[in-house]
Amino acid sequence: MKILFRKLAFYGLLIGVFFSCSVPEREDPFVGMAAARWDVGKSATFLLSDDRFSNLELEVVYMKGYKPTDYLMESMVEFLQETTLKPGGIEIIEREIPAEGEEFYSTEDIGNLEDRYRESYNDGNTVSVFFLVVDGSYMQNEEEFFTIGAAYRNTSMVLFGKRIAENSGGLGRPSRGTLETTVALHELGHLLGLVNVGSEMVTPHEDQGKEYHCDNDSCLMYWTVETDNVLRFTPQTIPTLDENCRNDLRGNGGR
Ligand SMILES: [Zn+2]
Ligand SMILES: [Zn+2]
Repeated sequence: MKILFRKLAFYGLLIGVFFSCSVPEREDPFVGMAAARWDVGKSATFLLSDDRFSNLELEVVYMKGYKPTDYLMESMVEFLQETTLKPGGIEIIEREIPAEGEEFYSTEDIGNLEDRYRESYNDGNTVSVFFLVVDGSYMQNEEEFFTIGAAYRNTSMVLFGKRIAENSGGLGRPSRGTLETTVALHELGHLLGLVNVGSEMVTPHEDQGKEYHCDNDSCLMYWTVETDNVLRFTPQTIPTLDENCRNDLRGNGGR
């Protein structure tokens, strides 16, 4: 009995050593490229709270001729400061890329551009958001969309520069800065889990006809905000999040 026990103990020790040597360290699933391939809203908690990431980095990559206004940059930082808990700070990196000269971009095209140009991914204490500005419009399955922007992955969003140019400036129309800022903040709202796409609703307020949007037509998360219908909705002022949307963000770790 004693010998058997010793043998068991010996094997046990061997097995213990074997496992600790051969099992690779588990990869952190929340950093790197793989963590940037999820659906919209799936990183809402990471973006909002400081539980896992205390810093936020916004990588803005724009095609030549489509540099976002300073107003947009400042407004995005301000919006994130108001809604998220990032004691380590929020930082913007800006970079120009060559214009592709395409009239239209599909979801696949946008994804490919991100794969080619994105450099910042979740790393250490920093959660990263990729913000692409292209020189064309959106087309999918041969259908042209009049959308001005879109959130398309858990930490990725795009603005369609051609649509912004077509719909801004001149009499009775919003300035370019106002229009692109309105749409950019709306897309950020989707990445933060609004509405009902990663941040649970405290009070039901998802639009019955337009999923992932707020039912309040004066809220930033109303569906017309990302389409050219935004003109009829808010010519010169940027809508803010209403109380229902704010509560959802607070309920999911935000400020
Ligand atoms: Zn939207
Ligand atoms: Zn709302």
